[in-house]
Amino acid sequence: MSKKTIAIVGGGQAAAMAAAALRQHGFDGELHLFSDEPHLPYERPPLSKAMLLDDTPQLQSVLNADWWRDNNVHLHLGVTVQTLGRQTHQLVLTNGEIYPWDRLLIATGAAARPLPLLDKLGDRCFTLRHAGDAARLRDALQPGRAIAIVGAGTIGLELAASATQRGCKVCVIELASTVMGRNAPAPIQRYLTARHQQAGVRLMLNNAIEQVCDGESITLTLQSGEQLQADSVIYGIGIIANDRLAHEAELEVANGVVVDNACQTRDADIFAAGDVAVLRRADGTLQRCESWENANNQAQTAAAAMLGLPLPVLPPPWFWTDQFNDNLQFIGDMHGDSWLVRSNPDAHKAIWFNLQEGVIVGAVTLNQGREIRLLRKWIQQGKTPDTTTLQGESVALKSL
Ligand SMILES: Cc1cc2nc3c(=O)[nH]c(=O)nc-3n(C[C@H](O)[C@H](O)[C@H](O)COP(=O)(O)OP(=O)(O)OC[C@H]3O[C@@H](n4cnc5c(N)ncnc54)[C@H](O)[C@@H]3O)c2cc1C
Repeated sequence: MSKKTIAIVGGGQAAAMAAAALRQHGFDGELHLFSDEPHLPYERPPLSKAMLLDDTPQLQSVLNADWWRDNNVHLHLGVTVQTLGRQTHQLVLTNGEIYPWDRLLIATGAAARPLPLLDKLGDRCFTLRHAGDAARLRDALQPGRAIAIVGAGTIGLELAASATQRGCKVCVIELASTVMGRNAPAPIQRYLTARHQQAGVRLMLNNAIEQVCDGESITLTLQSGEQLQADSVIYGIGIIANDRLAHEAELEVANGVVVDNACQTRDADIFAAGDVAVLRRADGTLQRCESWENANNQAQTAAAAMLGLPLPVLPPPWFWTDQFNDNLQFIGDMHGDSWLVRSNPDAHKAIWFNLQEGVIVGAVTLNQGREIRLLRKWIQQGKTPDTTTLQGESVALKSL
């Protein structure tokens, strides 16, 4: 596919890494990236952590300015793609400009799932997806302020930790009976619940907001009947994929652009990667993975597929979260039949192993991220360890 034009719609992790992969694979045609943000593609994970906590926070670019220049990528920043032009192979921007393409990658990510009941609070209500959201939120997290967070998923808990570290009084309201219900297994849910409570976060599980009253402070009336006062409200209740362009182009969408394992849509020239993509698995079920690593992996896959190269072999899925001073990393499958723990979570250092019929299928590390490489290898190999030795702290994992 040399000397043709590839257009990448979106300017986040997946878009940047796809551009990098295309050039690495030797694609020497025209490469255009269109982003509605004014910044070079930047890392989103620090938005809920370092960007709220560091004294002089700085956006971290995925690739530096020299890379974009040296690799001759046409960066169109601060522009919005209006239509993909599936039939004409010409995308149109809202400013009227038209760009032809031969292959197209949709990497438009996602937006925070809206909660209209809270949105009516205007500038005292926050969600977090973009750099501008983080800057606005940082201003609101002043010591002593009462912050109500709706949603105890990964983002909600990261925000609870950061707000507490900023000296705010934090309350988290969650509909489910547990924290991180979608992403974390039970032992980690228990650990995080205790961790947040010890740090002074008030966790209100099995609860939801029924009424909102906007006065000098915000009054939230909960299903339980209790009333809470807050200076600001933040919510993180999931995402809505930015799939409007694909929908209008009559591609298959299901809160995301449906792709196969090559990240290809039902149009052979159009691909999707990252948070906007939904993978149709071999058994027909749909799966979205909202993680930094998945955006990178799908970018690699889409780039290879666009160029007709063999698809990369994907490692077991991995993601991390940082809350307070804890770094938790999750690798592999979290649905095995039993869990074993090594070391002592109470001392903020542990590894939980997930086993299926005695074989390690997944693991979670707590402040032991350096073991992830080895754990990845074990999961790929289907390691069947001696469980007593595995739990014995005196034996280094690498010696097993
Ligand atoms: C606050 C936060 C913290 C996170 N922390 C972690 C973490 O600790 N660990 C982890 O594994 N993952 C984390 N993630 C998830 C990870 O960052 C995302 O999965 C990843 O950024 C997805 O990348 P993407 O390129 O698919 O989408 P995005 O990064 O959302 O990029 C999409 C881009 O496309 C642009 N766009 C959309 N529509 C258009 C259009 N029509 N025209 C032009 N441009 C458009 C958007 O503005 C955006 O710039 C976090 C996410 C957030 C929001």
